[in-house]
Amino acid sequence: MRFAMLARNPNLYTHKRLVEAAEQRGHEIEIINTTKCFMEITSHRPTIHYAGRIFRAGDFDAVIPRIGASITFYGLAVLRQFEMMGVFPLNESVGIGRSRDKLRSLQLLARDGIGLPVTAFAQDAKQADDVLEVVGGAPVVIKLLEGTQGIGVVLADTARSAKSVFEAFRSANVNILAQEFIKEAGGSDIRALVIDGKVVAAMERTGAKGEFRSNIHRGGSAKQIKITAEERSTAVRSAKAMGLNACGVDMLRSNHGPVVMEVNSSPGLEGIEAATQLDLAGKMIEFLEKEAKSGKTRTRGKG
Ligand code: ADP
Repeated sequence: MRFAMLARNPNLYTHKRLVEAAEQRGHEIEIINTTKCFMEITSHRPTIHYAGRIFRAGDFDAVIPRIGASITFYGLAVLRQFEMMGVFPLNESVGIGRSRDKLRSLQLLARDGIGLPVTAFAQDAKQADDVLEVVGGAPVVIKLLEGTQGIGVVLADTARSAKSVFEAFRSANVNILAQEFIKEAGGSDIRALVIDGKVVAAMERTGAKGEFRSNIHRGGSAKQIKITAEERSTAVRSAKAMGLNACGVDMLRSNHGPVVMEVNSSPGLEGIEAATQLDLAGKMIEFLEKEAKSGKTRTRGKG
């Protein structure tokens, strides 16, 4: 098969692994620098122009979007253009769009009855007291809606500090949400990798000493774990609610069962392949082998 991978940096571990896995399985794969493409939007023959070439319907069987958070708007437009050309995406533009907005994601997960930390969102900083009360008071977690890798996630120990953080972010016109602090998670979380409606790998990430955030980018460490049936079904249902074929579901072990923090539509493979010793890039390619047929994109940019 012929695959395109939308990515800006070919040297990232995950990107290298996806190329390696595709080639090992006998496919051709080309890395396309997302921001260097332009789109010709016409009713009959949508095309993508790239490095002096023109891609048309039928040039690729599938596209693997690896769109960085900083270029979400443009990257999703390019991916949508591939979808309009009938190229099957590993994850659809609509699903990625949902996952990039933490508030929208939580609303979709809530609609499907998936366990979440109690979360509140407000526009007006004057409501800080009520918002804090709703999420159980301090200590409380405050998050930027569009943060990644743990940046923009703050644990406020007292109501007073929570209120100042809330007011500071809001006066800078930044959207934030307040969330119940799941203390019993003890600085650890679970990342389950879901591909094609199944959990194919799971790891437990534990934050560096004194750190409540377990992100590997923040100095956390990871090990393989066996997750419970409830955690497994929560991860699978979350992927489905978001409409993602391949994603990382981050959960906390709370006193009231697993709660989902977020669903990542471009999960990194370095930590989880190292922790599990599994060929997860190969699993993503295997999914495309099975599903990638021209015109099979479900939404084609809709909704
Ligand atoms: P990011 O998308 O930036 O990684 P997350 O929402 O996943 O942000 O939060 C980063 C980390 O902070 C999580 O991996 C988890 O360890 C910790 N964390 C986030 N929300 C909570 C919460 N409500 N209670 C306890 N710990 C949390």
